[in-house]
Amino acid sequence: TFDIAQKRIWVAGHRGMVGTAVVRRLAGENCEVITAGRDTVDLKRQAEVEAFMADAKPDAVVMAAAKVGGILANDTYPADFLYDNLMIEANIFEAAHRSGVDRFLFLGSSCIYPKFAEQPIREDSLLTGPLEPTNEWYAIAKIAGIKLAQAYRRQHGRDYISAMPTNLYGPGDNYDLNSSHVMPALIRKAHEAKASGAKEIVVWGTGTPLREFLHADDCADALVFLLKTYSGEEHVNVGSGTDISILDLTKLVCKVVGFEGDIVHDLSKPDGTPRKLMSADKLRGMGWSPKISLEDGIRDAYDAFLSGNFSARA
Ligand code: GDP
Repeated sequence: TFDIAQKRIWVAGHRGMVGTAVVRRLAGENCEVITAGRDTVDLKRQAEVEAFMADAKPDAVVMAAAKVGGILANDTYPADFLYDNLMIEANIFEAAHRSGVDRFLFLGSSCIYPKFAEQPIREDSLLTGPLEPTNEWYAIAKIAGIKLAQAYRRQHGRDYISAMPTNLYGPGDNYDLNSSHVMPALIRKAHEAKASGAKEIVVWGTGTPLREFLHADDCADALVFLLKTYSGEEHVNVGSGTDISILDLTKLVCKVVGFEGDIVHDLSKPDGTPRKLMSADKLRGMGWSPKISLEDGIRDAYDAFLSGNFSARA
């Protein structure tokens, strides 16, 4: 266990959806949260990360910094997704180790798993088969991050761990339709269709793929739980344990938003992997489970969207 009381915790990526949720969650703890502004520290530059770390002297790092995006963005900018994420990870792990940081929580994503992994996907199916090609750039970088945590543990005895969140959504999400994930895209499309009196909204693909979703606040709660309690080489899945088809998700979003028109499919867009449900057994076995239902979570995300709490990076 790691007692976070009085500790200085660097939340890398504090402006992103997960980072802000972790900062919110840590505000309720007796610890000091440290952040690095994008304007002062470019995480892709080793010297800048090392200088920041030497100056800030954190006791622990929560690594929520990443170049992230949905299915189209991954497909369009493979070099950015691979290079940016590899550089950020390598720099932060090495700088943390060099400056004596003994506690590190690395965040990955469910896309690290093989495309045809047995579902629900258990932690030990990592690297047992080929990846989903639409996001393998991001996945390879995130697998490298898991391996970095393991490697510093093995070689240097560092207490570095990894968590793999499922598809997350919530306040501060990215609502740019070309780079967003499905949840914010549907919320925005349903909202705009309702506002303009449109008769239909367009959903990418067949609507049959199954996805699992977790609200960012549930994720942050799980991450703080892991930071306090978990030690081990193997990463831990962070999910809700249930999945839903994209079509049913669309219907639920339309219900929450209050859009009553039709749903049409754009079959020129990719479906991606057919199903992506992670096993939640490991984390549940440790005593953690999510608290926010999908419908309540969507309502919360929609409220945040309406009040302007989102990023629209292209
Ligand atoms: P993935 O989980 O890595 O495949 O990433 P996404 O969240 O981007 O997409 C999940 C699924 O939702 C895929 O099958 C998409 O084709 C589908 N989808 C339906 N409509 C949309 C949309 O408007 N935007 C996105 N990003 N995905 C959509």
